[in-house]
Amino acid sequence: MQKKYKIVVLGPAASGKGTQVEFLIEKLNLPNISVGQLLRDKKEAEEYMRKGELVPNAFVNELVKQRLNQPDTQNGFIFDGFPRIRIQAKYLDTLTDVTNAIHIKVSDQEVKNRLSGRRTCPKCGNVYHLKFNPPKNNELCDDCKIKLEIRDDDTETGIIKRLEIYHEETEEVVEYYKEKGILIEINGEQSIEDVRKEIFRKLKI
Ligand code: AMP
Repeated sequence: MQKKYKIVVLGPAASGKGTQVEFLIEKLNLPNISVGQLLRDKKEAEEYMRKGELVPNAFVNELVKQRLNQPDTQNGFIFDGFPRIRIQAKYLDTLTDVTNAIHIKVSDQEVKNRLSGRRTCPKCGNVYHLKFNPPKNNELCDDCKIKLEIRDDDTETGIIKRLEIYHEETEEVVEYYKEKGILIEINGEQSIEDVRKEIFRKLKI
């Protein structure tokens, strides 16, 4: 029987969490629970997200609980963007046993560089970067051929706010998993492929 993986992926905005989670779900055949994505459809979350602030705990935790109640998570899962604060990490422990926490480390300057050119497709969610990963046709999605958009929270103030929260809150979550002995630290300032290799190697998959 395959070992059960209940993984959380931590890291600042634009650290490549989403990209690496895609590799992991394919390799391990597990569902991806992207809390940002779950929240993006919710009216109650809109205002917080636009400002780069955290959506209130009670709301996020309830959404997470409902998601973990679905049968596809029984053999494991990969969380992207949760937990972001210590209380959420503790709450998650009441619902399930996390087996690995992957922390993708990227400097503030690199986050700013990456976010300032980020564009996403409003239809399929594909993510591009005008300099590092440009679309073939100026600002059109390669697949959907429709105009790419800037995420509402990828503004100067949104970026600064998210970095602030990351340093004040999410680094505590990193410590939390370190104390539990399940933390894996990854250098996020390598090529996408090298980050993937480092993660797979350290997870022994
Ligand atoms: P992401 O797509 O992971 O960058 O998340 C985008 C936004 O969703 C964040 O800036 C928050 O406003 C909200 N969000 C995502 N995950 C959480 C969480 N665990 N707790 C509170 N808010 C969250």
